[in-house]
Amino acid sequence: VADKKKRVLILMTDTGGGHRASAEALKSTFELEYGDIYEVTITDLWTDHTPWPFNQLPKSYSFLVKHSTLWKATFHVTAPRFIHQPHFAFTSVFIARKVMRGLLKYRPDIIVSVHPLMQHVPIRLLRARGLLKKIPFTTVVTDLSTGHPTWFHRLVTRCYCPSKEVAERATKAGLKPSQIRVFGLPIRPSFCRPVRPKDELKMELGMNNELPAVLLMGGGEGMGPVEATAKALGKSLYDMQSDKPIGQLVVICGRNKKLIKRLEDAEWSIPVKIKGFQTNMEEWMAACDCIITKAGPGTIAEALIRGLPLLLNDYIAGQEVGNVPYVVNNGAGKFSKDPKQIAKIVAEWFGPKADELHQMSHNALRLARPDAVFKIVRDLDSLVRYKERAVTPCPALAFS
Ligand code: UDP
Repeated sequence: VADKKKRVLILMTDTGGGHRASAEALKSTFELEYGDIYEVTITDLWTDHTPWPFNQLPKSYSFLVKHSTLWKATFHVTAPRFIHQPHFAFTSVFIARKVMRGLLKYRPDIIVSVHPLMQHVPIRLLRARGLLKKIPFTTVVTDLSTGHPTWFHRLVTRCYCPSKEVAERATKAGLKPSQIRVFGLPIRPSFCRPVRPKDELKMELGMNNELPAVLLMGGGEGMGPVEATAKALGKSLYDMQSDKPIGQLVVICGRNKKLIKRLEDAEWSIPVKIKGFQTNMEEWMAACDCIITKAGPGTIAEALIRGLPLLLNDYIAGQEVGNVPYVVNNGAGKFSKDPKQIAKIVAEWFGPKADELHQMSHNALRLARPDAVFKIVRDLDSLVRYKERAVTPCPALAFS
């Protein structure tokens, strides 16, 4: 009996939580919207289907971003087309067969790439086999405004851009309006559900019920000046005169175990919660009043949905630089690399500058796109259905 399921193949590589988070958001939305009509597979094409040294790419990313000058160099050296084009051509000769096998093993009806390094090689290979017309190839850009040029490929069926700034870049790279859609960054659907009352959440999460809360994090890996900022907040949120705290702190360290240990060993004069990787970010964000984070696109988009004013304290050189003016120019937050300065702003927000906090929360909500993931998934579904009508399916031939 022929399997009637439609298959979506999502290509990503684990270079930071943002790409994985977007891939997983798309997968769970397909399940919510279409049940078992669709089977969605997320694959790390580089790690799972390429030989050494190409399968080391995610690992070298982890190394490079922690040594930011090296990452900056890599980002900018690979940016101009005349450099990355021959590089991809060269790469594809070596890894073509393995990648092709990796792609076709899943017999996809549609391919979605959520990573800037997942366009050129797969598209080149599919085109060479004449499969690009049978299997629509789409890109979901996960950078809010800058966007590395390798995100954009003229042969995609769709390029989903999170903001009009990214759409402009796609246009400059030669994509036509019919290829571009601007729905927002896909965020897991749990962020779209109605929020429970703050008091209830605070109690459930073991937080202090009276004090306003600041959430401090550094992406999935707990990167950036988290420790120094936590310590500065420990001071700024303690009022010497009344001998009482004026706020509380939640630190989510992601997968950074050393950071958890160091923070647990420190002494605090304000209520503090220190956590490792959390799967209920929508609740933590709803329980807090503002957020301090590096400029990761996932965290920013989620915070905007929750109406949390953002204090950005770091960014990954290259891909996250543009996220800073996106937040600041839209009045949804501020930027400073100085932990003391950040801690001072939070103390003001929880004291004399409460109005500013309120206004920024309002501005954040104006930028929020909670339904982006649903719009993207529905559009992907329409592409699959359009393809079914337009092309006579011949799976035996296509996948032989
Ligand atoms: N995240 C999470 N639990 C944690 C820490 C982070 O679910 O304990 C999620 C966070 O909500 C966001 C993603 O991981 O969706 C981080 O993505 P971002 O783009 O902000 O930064 P990256 O880690 O990709 O550099």
